[in-house]
Amino acid sequence: MTELILSKYGELTLKGLNKRRFEDALVRDIKFRLAPYGGFEIERAQSALTVTPAEGADIDGMYDEMRRVFGLSAVGRAAVCEKTMEAVSEAAREYIPQFLMGKKTFKVESKRSDKSFPLKSPQISAEVGGVILDAMAHMGMPVKVNVEDPDVTVRVEIRDGHAYVSAGQERGAGGMPAGSSGRGMALLSGGIDSPVAVYMMARRGMAIECVHFESFPYTSELARRKVLELARLLCGYTGRMRVHVISVTRIQEELRKHTEEDYFTLLLRRSMMRLSCRAARNAGCGALITGESLGQVASQTLEAITVTNAAASLPVLRPCVGMDKDEIITVSRKIGTFETSILPYEDCCTVFTPAHPKTRPEPEKVLAQEAKLDMAALENEAMSAVMRYDIVSGTVIETLEGVPEKDYGAILAEKGEQK
Ligand code: ATP
Ligand code: MG
Repeated sequence: MTELILSKYGELTLKGLNKRRFEDALVRDIKFRLAPYGGFEIERAQSALTVTPAEGADIDGMYDEMRRVFGLSAVGRAAVCEKTMEAVSEAAREYIPQFLMGKKTFKVESKRSDKSFPLKSPQISAEVGGVILDAMAHMGMPVKVNVEDPDVTVRVEIRDGHAYVSAGQERGAGGMPAGSSGRGMALLSGGIDSPVAVYMMARRGMAIECVHFESFPYTSELARRKVLELARLLCGYTGRMRVHVISVTRIQEELRKHTEEDYFTLLLRRSMMRLSCRAARNAGCGALITGESLGQVASQTLEAITVTNAAASLPVLRPCVGMDKDEIITVSRKIGTFETSILPYEDCCTVFTPAHPKTRPEPEKVLAQEAKLDMAALENEAMSAVMRYDIVSGTVIETLEGVPEKDYGAILAEKGEQK
């Protein structure tokens, strides 16, 4: 008997999308992400994907990773066997008892997509149910059948190639496969909202890179580490992450010297938008992503967003825009970034914060303030010293400082994939 991972990607997700492209992106992502756990084979079978680990591979690690792959609606482990009733019964007898330990009730659900199989689904369920009842009784751990509300649902699937027997199937991570919806450059701060924004857009199938702005020595090395840790946690969903760190120290100092205090945050945020667009275009990203939520702080009123948005030359996606802080925190806890986000390190946006930031800025006045400086020169300077960090997930996390582009390609090539 061979144990494998049986995952499904549900027909609904495929509507309106090119099925082939969707599947290819899914397979590419799975191959990349499971590579650190050992060898395996992937097979596609009617809206299902099976991953069969090679001898000695870490199936637990693979399964854990599969639970976080976007584009899968369900994942479970299964025993695979020949398409005969004898083999199915044998697999159920051997494989299912471990899932019923300490449980009282179960039911069997059967599905046959191969209609030439001699038994119909209800007959398969009845027969396999009987086999399981006998096996558990024989082991001194009797269980009962309960079709209404069972503790465990056992599934038998007769597909084209093989039969599968499983229990304990879980919901998958949902969404769409990594890279099936283009690339986005996320503005990642050390806060609660932007990691949630990354997760939400990654779940919609975007491949994501991040840009982080710091203001050393006003912000610390620890603040940068915190952001890299957030990126590392997000890697659990994206599989990989590149973080571009851009210093805005000079820009902030010059803004403070030459412009009115009340406009400081807005002007800084406009500059961040322009710098992010440049980083995005360099990285082949077609959109920016931020964690902004309407009305949450002074810089997120509709008027302030209008002013900062005007500085961006790419679409800005704001998946948290309509969410309450409570809702954002709930997602943040679910994805495991909350505890890191609340570590109390400074952010460049909180350095030199004006006492009375403009909540209803007038665009002409903002532009007049901005014209007092040579922003283009300052931004060119900032772009000439971008630090890059690459995080490639698996059990081992590699963090490389300021590596040139080609090294990143080499890391991916080593992991079996080109960028
Ligand atoms: P967050 O919790 O994500 O930090 P916030 O509520 O603190 O959001 P702001 O500080 O106004 O709100 O930031 C709004 C958005 O701007 C953030 O969600 C993030 O996308 C981006 N941003 C803010 N600071 C930085 C930074 N230092 N580096 C990169 N992006 C930033
Ligand atoms: Mg913030």
